[in-house]
Formats: sequence, structure tokens, C-alpha cells
Amino acid sequence: MTNWLLSLLRFRDTRPTRIPDALWQQTLAQHPFLESRRDADTAKLRALAGQFLAQKQFSGAHGLVVTDEMAVAIAAQACLPVLHLGLQLYSDFKGIVVHPGAMLARRSVVDAAGVHHFYKEELVGEAMEGGPVTLSWQDAAGSSEHQARGYNVVIHEFVHKIDMRDGTANGCPPLASRHAKTIWQATMQTAYEAFREQVVIAERFGGPPPWLDAYAATSPAEFFAVTSEAYFVNPARFEADFPSLQPLFDAFYRPENG
Ligand SMILES: [Zn+2]
Repeated sequence: MTNWLLSLLRFRDTRPTRIPDALWQQTLAQHPFLESRRDADTAKLRALAGQFLAQKQFSGAHGLVVTDEMAVAIAAQACLPVLHLGLQLYSDFKGIVVHPGAMLARRSVVDAAGVHHFYKEELVGEAMEGGPVTLSWQDAAGSSEHQARGYNVVIHEFVHKIDMRDGTANGCPPLASRHAKTIWQATMQTAYEAFREQVVIAERFGGPPPWLDAYAATSPAEFFAVTSEAYFVNPARFEADFPSLQPLFDAFYRPENG
């Protein structure tokens, strides 16, 4: 098939572009969660994803060729969190790097004795402050299979980008008022502590494991990203597990519906 996105980029056209019908229908069919919310607005999502594709630059790592199908699938998922907020939240970067599978990142830590330890960490995605978003296609491609457990790597990394817009990722996105920030931090803190406790009880005392990945218990920023994945891909289960976060996320992600 012709590479529609490539021809678009060749002309450096940054005007909003319309995603071809067949390609869009295929994307919706392969990612049922794009339509799973009660107020799903796929026409608006399609328009926003078109703008996103015109503004961003996709590149494949390790010889991976980013096809139109891959770019549209990533764009649609990346635009879901900003559907009612706008693409300006993503205006601080242009690049999206797609790896065939998980990446190995070099990390270092300094222990209490001042000794440096170097190790490699396996990543399925990474969002850099002011820089590109990196994704493993292997993980992004399986997103419909991960829907039931509330997992979505594309939404995860792009929520980190939203979180970073007002400084470092700390689990609190840019909010309109000090009051909104106070409510956000108090509600998230309570839910985060309850989740951490559930993880500890499951790991140490054999309690029931939480529905969401225990990785959410590593920091407030990861808790925000992981719970947001669930909010978008499995709203019914999210509402049942996190009743206090439901209205908080609704007010943030869908302000015009509040
Ligand atoms: Zn993360």
C-alpha cells in the first residue's frame, strides 16, 4: 500500500490532515477501547489524531519501518487523554521513536556508601522531559489484549508528558487553580497510599493482588500514569476499583463535560 503518512511528511504539511476512512476504521476495530467510553467522540478523536500526525515526527529504531497503521494507532491512543484538553499539552516535543521490542536503558545508582552501581533496565516506553516519547511496538501492538487489565503503554507515556508540562513528573498535571491542585493532591495521595498498602499486603502476607500493575506503587507519577491507562481503556473496572479517582479524572480529562 502507499505510505500515506510519508507523502504527507514529504510536503512538510503541518495543516490538520484527514486520516483515510479505511485506515481509521481499521484502527477503531483493532482498539475497541477508543470507543468504550460512554461519551466516546471518535470523529473528534480522528480529527485530533490527524493534527497530531501532521505535527509529530515518527522514526523507527533498529531498522523498524513505521507504517501508516502503526503511526495512526499510536496517534489515536496518544490523543485519547488530550481529546478535550488539546494538543498544546504535547507542544514541547516532536519526536516519537518506535522500537521493535523492549529497550535496555543504562542506569546507575549510588548506594549509602557512595559506591556507584551500574545496571540495565528493560523499558517498554519512556517519556523524556522536553524530549521525545519512545515506545516498544511489541507492547503497543498488543494494546487491545491488555485492555481487560487496564494496561496501555502509549497512554502511559503520554500521560507522563502531560504530567511534565508544569515541571517534573510528580503525579500532578497542570491544573487551573490552587484549589484544584489541593483537591488533586489530597485525593491522589489517599488513593496512592491505599494502593501501596494493598501491594505490600499482597507481597508480604499473601493478600489478594491489586487489579492494576504493582508498578503503580513505585511513585506518585507512576500511579497517575498507570491509573490513567485504566481510566481510558477499562472505564467500568476503573470506576469499581477507584471510585474516588473517577470524578477527579473526569473533571481533569473532560472539563467541558463537567
Ligand atoms: Zn512510567
